[in-house]
Amino acid sequence: MSGARHVDVGGAAPYRIAIGDGLLRDGAALASHVRGRHAFLVSDANVAPLYARDVADAIQAARPDVRCIVSCMPAGESAKTLDRFGELLRELADFGATRDACVFALGGGVVGDIAGFAAACWMRGIDCVQLPTTLLAMVDSSVGGKTAVDLPQGKNLVGAFHPPRAVFADTATLRTLPDRELRAGLAEVVKYGAIRDDAFLDWLDAHAEALLARDAGALAEAIARSCAHKAAIVERDPLEHGERALLNFGHTFAHAIETEQGYGGLNHGEAVAVGMVRAAHLSTQLGLADAADARRLEALLARFGLPVEVPAGLAPDALVSRMRLDKKAAAGRLRFVVWRGAGRAEVLSDVPDDAVLAVL
Ligand code: NAD
Ligand code: MG
Repeated sequence: MSGARHVDVGGAAPYRIAIGDGLLRDGAALASHVRGRHAFLVSDANVAPLYARDVADAIQAARPDVRCIVSCMPAGESAKTLDRFGELLRELADFGATRDACVFALGGGVVGDIAGFAAACWMRGIDCVQLPTTLLAMVDSSVGGKTAVDLPQGKNLVGAFHPPRAVFADTATLRTLPDRELRAGLAEVVKYGAIRDDAFLDWLDAHAEALLARDAGALAEAIARSCAHKAAIVERDPLEHGERALLNFGHTFAHAIETEQGYGGLNHGEAVAVGMVRAAHLSTQLGLADAADARRLEALLARFGLPVEVPAGLAPDALVSRMRLDKKAAAGRLRFVVWRGAGRAEVLSDVPDDAVLAVL
């Protein structure tokens, strides 16, 4: 636990992200965020058997006055529903959770989003501590305060801004993460370099082998640098009125690919990898950036084993129609995050269809 790194997120509700190997065993640090006597630990069917008992025991050992119960939900996006959200609230009620109760979200982004939303709503908002166990959750979903559930009509349609009290990213948990999930997280890590930090892209290229081999030091460095970028952005624009939109680099393409191909195709990180390369080529197409930048990004993502081409069978015009329906598109005009070369992203409105079709 020594040598843990920290990233502080400022703003109206500041909190600290701790990153290191073995943090989930530090019961005293975890329990220091429990103001009352109720700790409600939410996890999923894959993560709970691996880590939940140890976390609950660590909290109880440090604070015998606290009651800690584990709530285990089914794994996967299909459980991020209003029904499951209601179930969490009923469990909080049965637990007798008071306004000083603390929710711990132990898992990937699915658990983090739904448990965070339950914490946002129970008694109009109680404390939440994020314990992310996927790389994506460590560098993205556990930071920034967005919580949500899905509706049949679309993802993340119901939610709230509810920043956590603290985040503990224990890199030891990444050792059990499936390879494909690790790579999906790496796509979002690359995104921070692409939008704000050219030198980070070089660092990632130099440490690609170590990251894929799950070297704890390399992972901690990549997570800390990613969190620092996300923190800087959400601090200045917590409610996504401006700069926070840069975090959607590659995502307009990705969402179109994800919805068009339906279930069983690319996962989110893979679609983001394809999308970022398309956004880079679009920038070249519009004369904003050099083609060499796009090629370099493509090569880096390929090194991480991520796809860079639109999957065969997806019609370009169908993808463009999907993009018009994206919840971030303004009034039917195509709006993209583009870059003026690696590390310099910006939002561009009124992008002509032809330019988009040319890179699909
Ligand atoms: P996930 O939570 O579904 O986790 C991926 C899979 O890995 C699951 O099967 C899970 O059970 C398993 N798993 C998790 N940790 C593990 C571990 N350490 N060892 C073994 N298996 C493990 O998916 P995700 O990619 O972490 O998150 C995706 C979700 O995050 C989506 O719902 C997305 O909308 C949301 N998200 C939210 C934000 C935000 O700002 N709130 C940002 C990005 C994404
Ligand atoms: Mg994303």
